[in-house]
Amino acid sequence: MQIPGHIDPIVTPREITPRADGRIDLMGLSHLQIRQLFEESQLDEKAAKLRSKQVFHWIYHRGVTDFEAMTDISKTMRPWLADRFVIGRPEIVEAQVSSDGTRKWLLRTDDAQDYEMVFIPDADRGTLCISSQVGCTLNCRFCHTGTMRLVRNLTPGEIVGQVMLARDALGEWPKGNMASVAADEDEDEDDDVGHYTADGRMLTNIVLMGMGEPLYNFDNVRDAIKIVMHGDGLGLSRRRITLSTSGVVPMMARAGEEINVNLAVSLHAVTKEVRDELVPLNRKYGIDELLRACAEYPGISNARRITFEYVMLKDKNDSDADARELVSLIRQYKLPAKVNLIPFNPWPGATYECSDPKRIKHFSSIIFEAGISAPIRTPRGRDIMAACGQLKSSSEKKSRAELDRLAEEKQAALG
Ligand code: SAH
Ligand code: SF4
Repeated sequence: MQIPGHIDPIVTPREITPRADGRIDLMGLSHLQIRQLFEESQLDEKAAKLRSKQVFHWIYHRGVTDFEAMTDISKTMRPWLADRFVIGRPEIVEAQVSSDGTRKWLLRTDDAQDYEMVFIPDADRGTLCISSQVGCTLNCRFCHTGTMRLVRNLTPGEIVGQVMLARDALGEWPKGNMASVAADEDEDEDDDVGHYTADGRMLTNIVLMGMGEPLYNFDNVRDAIKIVMHGDGLGLSRRRITLSTSGVVPMMARAGEEINVNLAVSLHAVTKEVRDELVPLNRKYGIDELLRACAEYPGISNARRITFEYVMLKDKNDSDADARELVSLIRQYKLPAKVNLIPFNPWPGATYECSDPKRIKHFSSIIFEAGISAPIRTPRGRDIMAACGQLKSSSEKKSRAELDRLAEEKQAALG
């Protein structure tokens, strides 16, 4: 049976846009990929192994974009690298700051598609909200991103590039001498144990809650997150990273096995009828299947709970009965869980309204009284359209043909 609604991932296929100067952008590549590239460029095995380790460290741990700054690489080797490779960043189209300190960046890919990232500073932490796709195929009815026509997966470089840019903007790369990189140290590609300390830094946490459904672009998200978690890369622990999904059930187990970051699930409703309307993906993967996948997510415990996101929509999903059913579902599946109540953030043309503050408080208290934490999320950056579900860049207004033309113009300008 054809499932109604536009709910399958139809993503514009894309290869990495080649650079006009023929050099290769290393951003987003793993240590192993960099090593292979060096070998293909005629470095012998031993040199490729050492140089790739050094370059990986300079790129992701130190934030260096210029091979000349790689002081432990010989002076003759640096131009050799610069002739063949670059270390890129996403292009910044616009940077905005909200009255509450939230920052939003509009970024552009090499093929002229726009996406956004948001930084939310708090007293005790700073959270970077990154995008995994340009747009989103899933069309949740209350989400601005879901109304974008064009969708494409972001590459690992474009995903990890957001974190690199944020560190640039916040001036948070380590200074001083770099720890020596031993040539004979054992390689361990799977070594993802971060030894990052907040150390007074602003950027302490990452959430995949920007544009897109991360589990519809899992391979690229995984590759990017592995670099973010790598001790010799950005070194953030998986406990500081949260992936939010609208419920792509078949991919949840893989996410648990391969990156095992914190999981947030956009539940938003407790009955089939309402969830089918709000999150059309529910017609494919229903609530029971979703909660079962949550119960099986590796590593969940009271110390590491699943977060259920629940957007508060007036007269739609905000009754006392809804709150009680939510409690009962969490108990039924014995889920170590907390609930994040998100006041609906409006956007032009949205058909829903936010629940009254008193209603939200009451809803929250029913869940709290059952022994489950249910804080109400304070909306951040609403004035610059940076709050949850408000992201929708201007690229959406351009047709595919226009985008192709723009990309061609850009190529011509570079050539
Ligand atoms: N696609 C993923 C992650 C991005 S959305 C997902 O859906 O989980 C991040 C969160 O913001 C989700 O819980 C999403 O449902 C919520 N959201 C979307 N639109 C919103 C809006 N207008 N107001 C409040 N929250 C919204
Ligand atoms: Fe996509 Fe998430 Fe928005 Fe739904 S809420 S349309 S899955 S970005």
